[in-house]
Amino acid sequence: MRAIDGIHHITLITGDARRNVDFYARVLGLRLTKKTVNQDDPSVYHLFYADEHGSPGADITFFEYPSAQPGRAGAGMISRVVHRVGSDAALDFWSERLSSEGVEVVREPGRLRFADPEGMGHELAVNQTGDEPLTARSKEVPAEFALQGFEAAHALVADLTPSESLLGEALGFSELGEHDWQARGEHRGGRIVFEQSNERGIPGAGTVHHIAWSVDRAEQEQWRQRVTDAGLHPTPIIDRFYFESVYFREPGGILYELATRDGAGFAADEPPEALGEKLALPPRFEPLRAEIEPRLTPLPDTTQWRPASAPG
Ligand code: ZN
Repeated sequence: MRAIDGIHHITLITGDARRNVDFYARVLGLRLTKKTVNQDDPSVYHLFYADEHGSPGADITFFEYPSAQPGRAGAGMISRVVHRVGSDAALDFWSERLSSEGVEVVREPGRLRFADPEGMGHELAVNQTGDEPLTARSKEVPAEFALQGFEAAHALVADLTPSESLLGEALGFSELGEHDWQARGEHRGGRIVFEQSNERGIPGAGTVHHIAWSVDRAEQEQWRQRVTDAGLHPTPIIDRFYFESVYFREPGGILYELATRDGAGFAADEPPEALGEKLALPPRFEPLRAEIEPRLTPLPDTTQWRPASAPG
């Protein structure tokens, strides 16, 4: 089996889809690559932000729970998402840009920390890998400063050992440093860094719902078997239309997903140049469009923040 290609996507909860689009698409300069509904509850959005192509490795996605109360990361949850940027100059740019948006920033050597409007912790770190930068085009964020995809996630668990053993033994991660684990496959790599915490988490707006690791379609069932053999209880393979998914709770309580890197992708149901502009519904929900669409939260038009011409 091939090694896992790092992080595929990270899914969070937002209680405020309009502000969410403003922050992730306008302020952070990501591309809204898919505007669709939660396949388990089609009355609310599932929003995907990523690079130009919606590549695995750069997708940060949000379930909209319109009345969600603010949550707080605790044991069994992801506490921070680390994104790559190209240089220290990019950190300077983001420090200034986020500050001018009223976002509090903490600058440390090689990195910059901040939170989104609902309190989710983010960090920008200068890319130390040779992985392909996964960037989106934005009118407000020059290409050389754009976010380049995920580097890592920080996770809190009450007991480090079982969480780390699962990664090392069943999922083929390697330990880079203390509690710092990397999955590096043929295409790219990504890390998860554990911290011990007995703090009780509160799921809600501004918290992570799950983190997905990137696997090859041909090997997804084998990975699923490994999870079963480790004594955990994965779901069957679920067809998410854009990719296929297996979900399970790791021993510390974090919801993991194994998602296919080489699934249909986001251009499966709309032209690559118009990703995210219209409400996309997977085929089984298409007959319900007339009921679903009018009830969804009206969102800003993200094309206003994108350069007009297609890349040359
Ligand atoms: Zn997912």
